[in-house]
Amino acid sequence: MPPLRDTLQRDLEQLRTSGLYRSLRRVDSPQGPRIKVGGREMLNFSSNDYLDLANDPALKRAANKAVEHWGVGAGASRLVCGNLAPYEELETKLAAFKKKESAIVFGSGYAANVGTIAALVGEGDVVILDKLDHASIIDGARQSGATVRVYPHKNLKKLDEILCQSDSFRRKLIITETIFSMDGDAAPLAEIVALKEKHDAWLMIDEAHATGVFGPNRRGLAEDAGVEEKIDVTLGTLSKALGCVGGFVVGSRTLIDFLRNRARSFIYSTALPPAMCAAASAAVDLVVSDEGEHRRDRLWANVRALGAQSPIHPVIVGDETAAVELSQKCYEHGIFVPAIRYPTVPKGKARLRVTLSAAHRQEDIEQLRHELPR
Ligand SMILES: *Cc1c(COP(=O)(O)O)cnc(C)c1O
Repeated sequence: MPPLRDTLQRDLEQLRTSGLYRSLRRVDSPQGPRIKVGGREMLNFSSNDYLDLANDPALKRAANKAVEHWGVGAGASRLVCGNLAPYEELETKLAAFKKKESAIVFGSGYAANVGTIAALVGEGDVVILDKLDHASIIDGARQSGATVRVYPHKNLKKLDEILCQSDSFRRKLIITETIFSMDGDAAPLAEIVALKEKHDAWLMIDEAHATGVFGPNRRGLAEDAGVEEKIDVTLGTLSKALGCVGGFVVGSRTLIDFLRNRARSFIYSTALPPAMCAAASAAVDLVVSDEGEHRRDRLWANVRALGAQSPIHPVIVGDETAAVELSQKCYEHGIFVPAIRYPTVPKGKARLRVTLSAAHRQEDIEQLRHELPR
């Protein structure tokens, strides 16, 4: 066997020649519509901080106050002695915000998906995914040991077919993102709910990119589509529009009680820092307030100004190297929008993933439009 380093070096070389090599770019400022990269200020069109909360004074005050009171680390997992009061406060707020009985917070959205899916299904069950579902959903499905079936993106006919062939499985779980993270388009939720009911399956939705952004009360796409009560499991993150970090699931009291007992990423992982919970609570307060509505409206004004369908606007380039070159051209002109490539998106579907924030100004959008291909 060749030495480890030689083998990895060869693999990395292959990534470089196929335009798939990734490297980190250091950011020297807080998150926001303008960030400092490489010693200069750039317009930032790549963060998921849609409501401009990551550096918000109210959230920072809440976190600072909590650090003073609770310290920095939780010290243990929730089930041992890490269940500090800010957790329960946050979970109560999340359940009320999402109009569900109960909520459970995880260390990240990734951990929430993996832990929840693997707790709900296993061998003898089937989990049915949209082709473009997030990596954390795929990983949860694989880890569960259930049979995994995948339907082409938003293809209801194929979903129906798979469900027709799934009678022999004990449990059937459909999982879809509501707003797809790399394409910004919306799942046909009402139609998926109809299929779930027709075939007597369970439905889990991932509202990572819709929470705070969609629905009259900003609860997500399920609120927008009027189907909240038909959803069995709703996942959200604290890390996108809420500007913090962490993941959560809301649903019936029974579901949440079950996850506390069976979700391994919840049980075997140290609780989030209490200050993060306090900041996230402040974020929920802000999102449900008039200020939250105001920011959401400003965000959508920017979406319309760009001619996009959601705050995620993919500019498909196709070729991996060409996408990197377009991103580099934007970078040289002061616009930060990294190229997204395989395996995050399919091969040959490389793109710039432009994301908008409530804090972008009209002239920022103009400047971006100027750089993008027509
Ligand atoms: C970002 C994201 C996650 C993971 O959330 P983190 O809090 O970043 O771990 C899960 N699902 C979707 C659809 C996402 O976009």
